Amino acid sequence: MSNKFKCSCGFIVPPGGIVITDEGCSEWVCPDCKKVNPFQNDIVIPMRVDEWNKYSEIVSGHIENYTIPQYGDAPDDMISTWSVDDCIKAIKRYCDRSSVSQRGELESLRDLVKIGHYACIALNKKATLCKKEGLNTEVMLNAIKEGTC
Ligand SMILES: [Zn+2]
Repeated sequence: MSNKFKCSCGFIVPPGGIVITDEGCSEWVCPDCKKVNPFQNDIVIPMRVDEWNKYSEIVSGHIENYTIPQYGDAPDDMISTWSVDDCIKAIKRYCDRSSVSQRGELESLRDLVKIGHYACIALNKKATLCKKEGLNTEVMLNAIKEGTC
């Protein structure tokens, strides 16, 4: 079992950390609070989602502690004046720079975080443009999120 499970207490059990209570495998015990939880699909956190959530936390911290002190916040930062294409060019630049890593591994890692931030800004700018063109971007983004398109 490589997936993580989330207990109703909020504790996220690491892969392999659950204890199955009965032979039917219908319940498991939280190693933190010892509460018995039923097996349900919705308590499984896929590894890739967990990985993304951690990445998202790193990007948030990077924005608050590095980007904003240096460049300010929207709508007064320079990137607010950028086009979607400017953001995509920045992503390409950081992709190339990160793979070379001549600036050291720390900067290479930071570049991979910056790529996520630029992609986020590009998505929001693109969605705003699509909305101005009369497209229902909320429905479109929700369809992408739900995997229904
Ligand atoms: Zn628990």
